[in-house]
Amino acid sequence: MSTLDQFRLDGKVAVVTGGNRGIGKAIARALGEAGAAVVIAARDEARNAEAVADLSETGATVIATRTDVTSRDDLVAMRETVTERLGPIDVLINNAGIGIHGASLEIDDESWNRVMATNLDAVWQASQVVGQSMVERGSGAIVNVGSMSGMIINRPQWHAPYAVAKAGVHHMTRSLAAEWAPSKVRVNAIAPGYTKTEISDIDLPEYKHYWIDEVPMQRYAQASEIAPAALFLASPAASFVTGEVLVVDGGYTLW
Ligand code: NDP
Repeated sequence: MSTLDQFRLDGKVAVVTGGNRGIGKAIARALGEAGAAVVIAARDEARNAEAVADLSETGATVIATRTDVTSRDDLVAMRETVTERLGPIDVLINNAGIGIHGASLEIDDESWNRVMATNLDAVWQASQVVGQSMVERGSGAIVNVGSMSGMIINRPQWHAPYAVAKAGVHHMTRSLAAEWAPSKVRVNAIAPGYTKTEISDIDLPEYKHYWIDEVPMQRYAQASEIAPAALFLASPAASFVTGEVLVVDGGYTLW
């Protein structure tokens, strides 16, 4: 196989949680372009349908399942639907996530629980639900979308629950990678820096100094610049890479 062919995913089935917009949609596009049949697993059915229509234009096979990643029942139903319609899941991208800003003395339990449920517990549950069949088959790749916020403390906004959840995702990645390596299931993560999507208040003037001027590359990322890193980790090109957290942040965490 040529080096470039190792980045291909022909015949593979890839699920992207939260793949209907932002970074997830860019990753779904990349996986589809690489030849995978792609599944968008998110809650908003109108946006799921929009993403399916959009990404299908590339010629890829793309379907959506209405999935709330905080529900184990939804995740099991998603796995069963995908297996029935496309075959067993080869690639799982745990991308769905939410963000909140707030001072730690003001964040209530409901907010803490909501962030943990979506950004940490759901990664665990989806990895268990899909990982079980990967381990049984002795093959699979999981890529978690962590964040540079799991490695540093962002300024000027405070968001302790978000950062704690992402740090947890990074260490979950290492734990599962070690545990499932003998079963030939690889588990890696990407840690994006500031990226222009709906989740991020990237254009607020009060953030410019910290979010753009302080980035060594002096800009934020487009989602399309994050996606290739996920494709690499999901593909046979990364066949000897597991437990890695690949930082894609324009150099932000170098300081
Ligand atoms: P967006 O807000 O653009 O997209 C979030 C996606 O997650 C949507 O598709 C949404 O779909 C889905 N989602 C949210 N909650 C759930 C749920 N309970 N079940 C299923 N899907 C859900 O965010 P981004 O694209 O910016 O973020 C994607 C990932 O990248 C997140 O994990 C985020 O933390 C991470 N990240 C983002 C950075 C940035 O600067 N943008 C930087 C570093 C990391 P729906 O609402 O339809 O369910």
